[in-house]
Amino acid sequence: MSGGVPAADGQAKVEIYDTTLRDGSQQVGLDLTVTDKLRVAVALDALGVDVVEGGWPGSNPKDAEFFARASELQWKHARLAAFGATRLPHRGADGDVNLHALLDAGTPIVTLVGKAWTLHVDEALRTTRDENLAMVADSVAFMAAAGRRVVFDAEHFFDGYRADRGYALAVLDAAVNAGADTLVLCDTNGGTLPDDAARVVAEVAGSARARVGVHFHNDAACAVANSVVAVSGGALHVQGAANGYGERCGNADLFAIIAGLELKRGHELLPPGRLAELAATARTIAEFANLPLASRQPYVGSAAFATKAGLHASAIARRPDAYAHVDPEAVGNRQRVLVSELAGRSNVLAKAAELGLDLSPELATEVLDQVKAAEHRGYAYEAADASFELLVRRVAGALPAWFSLDSYRVVIERSQGEDRSEAIVRLLLGDERVVAVGEGVGPVHALDQALRRALSDFYPALSGIHLVDYKVRILDGRAATSAVTRVMLTSADLAGEWTTVGVSDDIVTASWEALADGVAFGLLRAGAEALGAAARRDVPRELESVPERV
Ligand SMILES: [Zn+2]
Repeated sequence: MSGGVPAADGQAKVEIYDTTLRDGSQQVGLDLTVTDKLRVAVALDALGVDVVEGGWPGSNPKDAEFFARASELQWKHARLAAFGATRLPHRGADGDVNLHALLDAGTPIVTLVGKAWTLHVDEALRTTRDENLAMVADSVAFMAAAGRRVVFDAEHFFDGYRADRGYALAVLDAAVNAGADTLVLCDTNGGTLPDDAARVVAEVAGSARARVGVHFHNDAACAVANSVVAVSGGALHVQGAANGYGERCGNADLFAIIAGLELKRGHELLPPGRLAELAATARTIAEFANLPLASRQPYVGSAAFATKAGLHASAIARRPDAYAHVDPEAVGNRQRVLVSELAGRSNVLAKAAELGLDLSPELATEVLDQVKAAEHRGYAYEAADASFELLVRRVAGALPAWFSLDSYRVVIERSQGEDRSEAIVRLLLGDERVVAVGEGVGPVHALDQALRRALSDFYPALSGIHLVDYKVRILDGRAATSAVTRVMLTSADLAGEWTTVGVSDDIVTASWEALADGVAFGLLRAGAEALGAAARRDVPRELESVPERV
């Protein structure tokens, strides 16, 4: 595909090259096992990127193992690239251990990185500029002779071009003359601004004898912008990393580049229909990386299309396209209206409509009053969608009464250095009174156990619901004795997760509120019917009073 394959709309196809597994995994705190790397590669392949750079086989055994196992996978779309440096100064390519490790990786594509900035040749490599050109030429020729497609990464190209344009271009010439089919201009220090990026790419692409690509880092917060203007300037190959992972400030966020070029410039970069998988892919990879996906991540973050301004909410309900730069569904995301005390009635109505509830203006006012009063006491509904939905349904009379609290008692015990808590929960299910005991490592755990035990026989759906996160925040540090505690609790079932909130002077009470809301919302999602008079007759007698079900 050298020279570019015309896309359906006449634009040349821009090759999407992912470097999450090599450059992206240089990020502090990002540590992928070989299995994780394979999973990420499969997710990228499913999304439909053209090239997955698997790693640097000469640099560590983990990457060598990755390539061995990756060769056994069935790839749908992507081709694999192995990454490595040019040969050592004043040595032959034939005897170079790293170049042989690259060949042994068995990939159709080999990406070689070489110096393009005289400062680095002189000071880092400490060899002559002619020898550096020979290193590039010999290494590229070695790989090309072995039948590999060679991508040449010109390290520090933008800095090198500024310092000594003639030499930087001579490095590209050495690579293309030796058989490289793609010349990648790398902004390794990440400081280039978009006007310079556009000018340099256009100058190089205008006279290049091979496809020109780009590789930007985000140190000046311009990596995505630079990549987009580079494509406008003639680049036909873009490197980046999932979610912008990478050392320092990250690599260019490949997902934002893909979305921008597809939705705003008409490029066809992924196979048809795959753009709608972008947000799910971003979340999946974040999960494998064990890093939370930033809510503000453009296009794919949970807040990317969220707004809480009451002023806008009624207009959003009428014309969603008026307040979003693209259709969220195009990238598999969705519009969210947040609820907060800043919100007006229109915001509440919009949110209710999102939940499928048709509120009268009077009920919307009632919900808004309750939200304002609750947020004044310390509740936060923006991050606790589930508690908000329960509040709206309660006000609207559209919430089944699965259970209500009669009383609970928690005993905390520390004995011989071990903490142990016991909770007794008394619930009302219709007219029925159910008692259950739970034990746990702390009071909240014990309460959760008792609550589940009390309900599990009546609501089997509970068995699929579990806790995934529990956060406590003290809201008023000024008056420590009267500080208010806010608990945010995230629960999950197979289909997703939800967050509930509880607020009280007492941490156990706040936790109970969040727990009870979390269970109620789970039952709502499961479509569980509240125990009515008819159902109660089926309850086994022995469950009516169960004081010792530890
Ligand atoms: Zn890089």
